[in-house]
Amino acid sequence: VSRSLLLQRVELHGRLQDVRVADGLVSVVTAAGQLSRQPGEALVDGHGGALLPGLADHHLHLLAAAASLASLDCSAARVGDRAGLSAALRSATPGADGWVRAVGYDGQLAGPLTATTLDELLGEGAPRLVRVQDRSGAAWSLSGAAAHAIGLQGALHPGVERGGDGRATGRLFGADDWLRDRLPPTGTADVATVGTLLARYGVTAVTDATAGLGDDAVTLLADAHAAGLLPQRLHLLGAASVPVPLSLGPSKIMVADAALPALADLAARVAASHERGRPVAVHCVTREALLLLLSALDLVGILEGDRVEHAAVVPRELMPRLRGLRVVTQPAFLTVRGESYRRDVDPRDLPGLYPYSSLLAAGVPVVPSSDAPFGPLDPWAVICAARDRRTERGTVLGAREQVSPRTALAGLLSPVELPGAPPRRVTVGGAADFCVLSCRLEEALRHPSSELVAATVIAGDIVHTAGS
Ligand SMILES: [Zn+2]
Repeated sequence: VSRSLLLQRVELHGRLQDVRVADGLVSVVTAAGQLSRQPGEALVDGHGGALLPGLADHHLHLLAAAASLASLDCSAARVGDRAGLSAALRSATPGADGWVRAVGYDGQLAGPLTATTLDELLGEGAPRLVRVQDRSGAAWSLSGAAAHAIGLQGALHPGVERGGDGRATGRLFGADDWLRDRLPPTGTADVATVGTLLARYGVTAVTDATAGLGDDAVTLLADAHAAGLLPQRLHLLGAASVPVPLSLGPSKIMVADAALPALADLAARVAASHERGRPVAVHCVTREALLLLLSALDLVGILEGDRVEHAAVVPRELMPRLRGLRVVTQPAFLTVRGESYRRDVDPRDLPGLYPYSSLLAAGVPVVPSSDAPFGPLDPWAVICAARDRRTERGTVLGAREQVSPRTALAGLLSPVELPGAPPRRVTVGGAADFCVLSCRLEEALRHPSSELVAATVIAGDIVHTAGS
């Protein structure tokens, strides 16, 4: 890998320029035609396409995204009905570890998915070690053999659902870490696929928002990064500490959608993080969870960098109380599960679901993110979703919350350390993280698409070129 890179004829800050990179930093920015290639120097000819600082995904789950790429999609959209689900599970090919991992389960298909129900769906001759994730990501269902293999009956974890007879049903809630510890270890192969996809989309930095990220997971990510398999800059919220060059963000705190913590407990957790100088990133989906968080922050105060993850429901009258916080939203949830929101969400909350424009107007910084694998990984699809807010069937949800592609892109260009701060800029002395487009910026904003990404550069290394 060459440490010197020349980008010729790129559109930067509205002008046609040449940019030279040395040792991972921008060393020269000049009018196009001024710089010629030096011996051994890598070259990107921009052909007049826009040079952006790389995109950042401010909230995703790398290991879960990796696993989902190697998983059976059993969403209602994919399998259709109960019979389709059964057929998909029966014909699934187990992974190298002997397990079938299925994701995206919708309770509409076959109701609460207990081990008994799952074994019925599997029938004779099907793979035996099967785990199925609920589409929210909050619950796992294990087949009878899978429950036995990990010792579910004897488990003490509070997320293990038990029936009236005290026996585990096969369903687990909020127990991802516990489950991961009992499964065969994940390799780096699937993480590399995520790294490749992100590079193809022009993403140069990501924030992993997984809560309770253990040492093994941090080591796996750090190793994948060091090996160049996951070349993006990694910012972690759910880790206690990270090795260089990974960086640590605000502490992730889960406020469960169903069972809210006591106000004093939440306030104490926020205060404990703040006392260590670390802001918080609080998972907050419902109106009740948001009210609880705001009450907790009234008690302990806001620290610069505090974030609200999702903020799916924000009553208008509460918006001024979010000033000082940063909201990390997921507009593409409207495009992948908007129809079920229309069915299940309180009609009062629908027009303002996943608010964006009105929060900005209230003076609250908002940035979009993927929350992959629960939303699409492609940030350009996220930009389109923020603009359109259309469900799978094309119904617009909350037209007044639409934002322009320019606004959504600005959020993706803001620093991972401070989402919603002004976009990073390509300047001399700055990091050579780039997303080079095949067209001018104005054109890309008219038709946002990951197909427009011509090259991606991280710390001066070319990690993707179109056609490769
Ligand atoms: Zn998430």
